[in-house]
Amino acid sequence: MYAKVIVDISNNELDRIFDYSVGELSLEPGCRVTVPFGIRQIEGYVIDLNDTTDCPIDKIKPITARLDDYPVITSEMLSLMRFMCDRYHLRVIDALRLFIPAQMRGGKVKELSKKFVSVNPDIDDPRSLIKPSAVMQLAALEFVLERGEVSLSEVNANCSAASVRNLIMRDILRIKDVEVMRTPYNNLTVNDNNVRLTSDQQAVVDTVLSATNKTFLLHGVTGSGKTEVYMHCIAKVLASGKTAIMLVPEISLTPQVLSSFRARFGSRVALLHSGLSVGERFDEWRRLITGEAVVAVGARSAVFAPLKNVGIIIIDEEHDGSYTSESNPRYVTSEVAEFRKRYNECNIILGSATPSIESYHKAMTGEYQLLELANRINKRPLPEISIINMCNEVYNGNNGAFSVKLEDELHKCIESNNQAIIFINRRGYSSYVMCRSCGYVAKCEQCDVSLVYHKEEDTLKCHYCGNRYKALSVCPNCGSEHIKRGYVGTEQIAEKLKEMFPNETILRMDNDTTQNKNAHLQILGDFASKKAKILVGTQMIAKGHDFPDVTLVGIIDADMSLHFADYRSVERTYQLITQVAGRAGRDKKAGTVVLQTYSPNHYVYKFAVSGDYKHFYEKECNLREVTKFPPFTRIVRILVSGESEIAVRDALQAIFEKVKAIAQNDKRFVFLNYMWAPVKLIKNMRRAQILMRILPDFDGYSEIYKIADEYKTNKINIFVETNPNSLS
Ligand code: ADP
Ligand code: ZN
Ligand code: ZN
Repeated sequence: MYAKVIVDISNNELDRIFDYSVGELSLEPGCRVTVPFGIRQIEGYVIDLNDTTDCPIDKIKPITARLDDYPVITSEMLSLMRFMCDRYHLRVIDALRLFIPAQMRGGKVKELSKKFVSVNPDIDDPRSLIKPSAVMQLAALEFVLERGEVSLSEVNANCSAASVRNLIMRDILRIKDVEVMRTPYNNLTVNDNNVRLTSDQQAVVDTVLSATNKTFLLHGVTGSGKTEVYMHCIAKVLASGKTAIMLVPEISLTPQVLSSFRARFGSRVALLHSGLSVGERFDEWRRLITGEAVVAVGARSAVFAPLKNVGIIIIDEEHDGSYTSESNPRYVTSEVAEFRKRYNECNIILGSATPSIESYHKAMTGEYQLLELANRINKRPLPEISIINMCNEVYNGNNGAFSVKLEDELHKCIESNNQAIIFINRRGYSSYVMCRSCGYVAKCEQCDVSLVYHKEEDTLKCHYCGNRYKALSVCPNCGSEHIKRGYVGTEQIAEKLKEMFPNETILRMDNDTTQNKNAHLQILGDFASKKAKILVGTQMIAKGHDFPDVTLVGIIDADMSLHFADYRSVERTYQLITQVAGRAGRDKKAGTVVLQTYSPNHYVYKFAVSGDYKHFYEKECNLREVTKFPPFTRIVRILVSGESEIAVRDALQAIFEKVKAIAQNDKRFVFLNYMWAPVKLIKNMRRAQILMRILPDFDGYSEIYKIADEYKTNKINIFVETNPNSLS
C-alpha cells in the first residue's frame, strides 16, 4: 500500500504529492504522519491511499509514524481542499493548514491532562496497612477516601506531600491521568431568556427549516431579532441530529454573543476565535472533531469547523469585509460555505441589516432567496438622523470637528445622565482630498473613484487605473484654499471632548487602545457598566453592541468612507451609518443621531436617513452597471512581489503581455492595465499589479492562473485575487 502525502512545508516547488510506503501502519486519508524528507523528519498529511505507485520502487521510503488516533482532516475537508485549490489557486498545504489549529502542527500544543488520586480498589481495608503512628499518612488516606477521586494537586495542597508520595509508592493510593478540556470563558454567567418568536420571526424560521440546499439572505433591520432567528434554526437542526456553524465578524464576538449561545446550547457550543489561548483553541477544535460539541461559533475561520453532518451555516453581518481573507491563503467565506452546503445538503443564512450589493443582487436574480424582518422587536422606532452640513460650519467660522448641533446634543445627553457614542470614520491608510468650503472631492476622470494623496510623491493617484494627477493647493471648483487632506484621529477628538466635559471620563476605542488581547472587551464592559458616559471610537464600536442608555450617536466625518478610493465606498458608507445609528435608542429611550458631512446632498445620506435600503440598492446597482464594477464584472488582480525591483518588473511585463494577448480577442475584458501596487513596498518586497475587470460570463481563469504560475519562482511571489476587499 502506498500513501500520497503532502508535506508540511509551504514552498512553491514542494507543493506536490509524494508517495510513501505504508508498511504495517493503519492509515486512512486525512491522517497526520511523520515522514523522512531529505535528511529530516517532517509532518505531512495522507491525502490518498493506493495499491500502486508511479514512482520507482527503490526511491520510495516508508512513513515513519502516524500522529493522531483519528484523521485530523475529514473527507469533506479533503474535498474542500481540492475545491479551494482550484478556485483560489492555493497551495495544497496552505489550504490544509486552514483546517487545523496552527499550534497543533509540530506538536506545539498537547492535550492537557491532570493527575487524579484514588484508593486502590483491590485493597479491602486500606487503614489497616498504615501504622497508627503515621498520623500524616492516615490523614492523607482519609482525605482521599472521603472524596473518592481527587486531583493530586488538591491532595498535596491539603496533606503532607511526602506522605502522599509514600502511599502512592506502596500502591495504597493510585494515580491516573484524566484529560481535562480548557474551556474558554468558562465563567461567563449564563442567563437564557428563551423568548417567544414574533410571527415575523417564526415565518422566517419556518421558511428556512422547510428548505434544503438553499441560501437565504435575511435582510433584517438592526434590532429586528435576527440572533433569535438564528438560535431557533440551530436548535431545530440539532434536534434532528445535525450540527451547525455560526459565523460572526471577529470584532462582534463579544461576551454578549458568546454567553447567549452558551446559555441556549450549553457545552454543545465550541468557540473558535483568535482571542482564545492556544490550548483553548486546540481543545475546542477537538471537541468539534470528536462530535462532543455540535455548534461552532466563531469568526471567519470557523467556516472550517471540523463538524460532520452540518445542518445549517449562518453568516451574520454577511456584508462585513472581514469575511474575505486578504492575505495568503485568500478565500471568500461565503464561497467556502456554499461548498459545505452542497456537500452536506444543508442551508445557509446570510444575515444583515445592510446586505452587500453583491448579495442583494443575487437575491434579486434568484440565486439567493430573500427573507425580510422589516421591523424592530416591539416596533421600537429607528433613531432619527440629522444631517449637518459641515461646509456651513466652516462658512460660519466654526473650524472645529464638532458642529454646534452635535455639541448641544452632547450637553443635553450628558446632563440627562444618558450615554453618547462618538464615531470616527476611519478606513485604511489612505486619504482623499477635499475642499472644506464647497465639499469638492478630487476624483479619477476615468473611474469615478476618489483619488488618493501620496505624500512621498506629492501626487494624487487612482488605485483602479493607476492614473496620476497633480496635487491640489486650491479648489478647482470654488478657488478656496481650505483643502483638507487626511483625517482627524480618535485621540484628538477624545482630547476635545475632555475640554468640553472636564468632569467626565472619556473612553476611547481604536487600534491603539486595543492592542492587548482583552482590551476591547474591557472598554465595552466599562461603558456598559456606565463607568463613562462617552465612548469615542472607530469602526470597532459600530457593531452588535446593545447599550440601553445610549441616546446619542455622533458621526464625526461620515464622508471618510464615502470618498475612499474604492468602488464599494458608497455601499460601505451606507452600511456604517446604519450600523452606528443602530446603536442609539435600542431600549426604551429614543435615540438621536447627528451625522456630520461635507457632502450633504449625496444620495447615500438620503437613503440612509430614511432607511430605504431597497432604493439605495437600485441606485447603487445602476451605477455599478454603468461603470462596470462588480457584480457586473469581476475585478481580477495579479499581484507580483519580490525583493528585486527589476525581477518584479520583468515578471509583471511578461505576464501582462500574455494576458493582453488573451484580452485583445475577448470582448469580455472591459479593463486591463499594469502598474505598481498602491503600497509599493511591504516588508522590503516590491509590489506590482495587473488589474482587470472582466464580464461575469468569462470562464478562462485557469489560463490566467497558468500564466501567473509560469513566473512563480522562489524569488517572485504571485497571487491572483478576485474582487479583493481593498487594493493595497
Ligand atoms: P438584530 O440581531 O436583528 O440586530 P437582536 O437579535 O440583537 O437583533 O435583537 C434585538 C433585541 O430584541 C435583543 O435584546 C433580543 O433579546 C430581543 N428579542 C429578539 N427576539 C425577541 C422576541 N421574539 N421577543 C422579545 N424580545 C426579543
Ligand atoms: Zn482611475
Ligand atoms: Zn471648493
